[in-house]
Amino acid sequence: MQLKTSLKPNVQPLSPERPTRITIARGDGIGGEIMDATLSILEAAGARLEYDEIRIGRQVYLEGHSSGISPEAWEVLRRNRAFLKGPITTPQGGGYKSLNVTIRKAMGLYANVRPCRAYTPYVESNFPDMDLVVVRENEEDLYAGIEHRQTTEVVQCLKLVSRPGCERVIRYAFEYARAYGRRKVTCMTKDNIMKHTDGLFHEVFDEVAREYPDIQSDHYIIDIGAALLSARPDQFDVVVTLNLYGDIISDITALVAGSVGLGGSANIGDNIAMFEAIHGSAPDIAGKGVANPSGLVHAACMMLTHIGQAKVAERILNALLRTLEDGIHTDDLYNEAYTRHRASTEEFTRAVIERLGQEPEKLKPALLGDAAKPIEVKVQPGKRSNKQLVGVDVFLDWADGRRDPGELGRVLEELAGQQLQLKMITNRGVKVYPNGFPETFCTDHWRCRFVSGDSRVKPMGNGMAYTAQVPYDEVVALLQRLADAGLNFIKIENLYEIDGERAYSLGQGE
Ligand code: NAD
Repeated sequence: MQLKTSLKPNVQPLSPERPTRITIARGDGIGGEIMDATLSILEAAGARLEYDEIRIGRQVYLEGHSSGISPEAWEVLRRNRAFLKGPITTPQGGGYKSLNVTIRKAMGLYANVRPCRAYTPYVESNFPDMDLVVVRENEEDLYAGIEHRQTTEVVQCLKLVSRPGCERVIRYAFEYARAYGRRKVTCMTKDNIMKHTDGLFHEVFDEVAREYPDIQSDHYIIDIGAALLSARPDQFDVVVTLNLYGDIISDITALVAGSVGLGGSANIGDNIAMFEAIHGSAPDIAGKGVANPSGLVHAACMMLTHIGQAKVAERILNALLRTLEDGIHTDDLYNEAYTRHRASTEEFTRAVIERLGQEPEKLKPALLGDAAKPIEVKVQPGKRSNKQLVGVDVFLDWADGRRDPGELGRVLEELAGQQLQLKMITNRGVKVYPNGFPETFCTDHWRCRFVSGDSRVKPMGNGMAYTAQVPYDEVVALLQRLADAGLNFIKIENLYEIDGERAYSLGQGE
């Protein structure tokens, strides 16, 4: 099994003395201002870095590169271990692809990491003790972008979840917890409904958690989990979840912490990682010299820790906290009670540099120390499973007459063969044949389940499984009969038994 991306990176090994070469991109809007500020702070703090700069963002989009990145920039990205990225402006209108998604997928950045911490009273939040990290799976789930309109009425989006994909991000979350002295990792899924996809994530979480007895672990269903994150965020430490849920909860937690403008985020891959502020390009204040560089500075500190310069990151973070405490605030953080000086970007940057070596007096200091080493996650391909074809779901576009499932059922019973017999028909997952309810609303999208006629059905763990193997020829012959009868099949899904377990969901009411 190939786990790495097809782009072969050529990054230098880490060395404590040698500078690490990183890629930077200023981006759009306030990007240039906050990047300059961040680079001056990095330099003053003694970060051992060298830079390659690439062009990304609005102008590159408008030049006709639909991903917002110039073609020659890929080579540079691939060469260096880390990418510090300024925010970009995505032009309005169609045809433009998200740069973040493109880079994430092309470079195999499998984990999105977003620390969210409160800075009360300097930045308002109802939860002064909140200090958590969301680790989001970054490549799979509904974000694979595989969508099809299948019938006049129905559109589909494929949710893909892989075992190595789950394992990598979950291991990363536990390794992160260990490296950063965190106590607990919480998994969030919706596996009460999506028993196979989210169920896999939860199952792998439980397996990996057993290898980390020093770290507590627990699991919440995502709906109550998200509610708790907004009502009692201070009870969480590291949260690991699938792509879509992670996208949503990381915005909730950033807002609840009150620190959207201060937050940084990391996208981690095996060899390459991308670091950026959470906020956008803020075109409304671009060029005015008032932008707060803290989000990008936080991202840069995550980057320093990632490349083994945690001590430098710690110095910068503590100077930043001290600046906040001393009431030197950019406009976005202005408040009457705590602001002593309303600082420009330049003044704020200078204030942070002046405080390098100092610690905050009231806020909890950053303590990365030697513990926060670069995190390495290795996932081995598992053994191949024993897979047996036991049936097929044929999806039909059918809107004849009154859309009577009984009528469709009778036609299909006649077309089914000895080897593949009609088991049921569902409409949007609800069983409508045999013995459906007349109240069920039926669209033009029908899933027709055919299973082996050799019905030596035996009970297995969590349901029933069919043991007889179906030859592929039978599936093809069935499809031919359906086509000959004028039925419009839009896709099929094979039904497998894998290692003796039913590897597909039952219909609602089956
Ligand atoms: P935004 O985050 O750019 O701005 C929202 C508000 O916050 C604005 O009032 C802005 O002035 C303020 N703000 C943001 N960052 C600030 C900072 N560092 N200092 C002071 N004030 C700050 O969000 P938006 O206005 O919705 O988006 C603007 C553009 O940014 C859009 O084109 C959007 O697509 C893009 N965007 C890019 C990224 C990224 O590159 N990762 C992320 C989000 C939005």
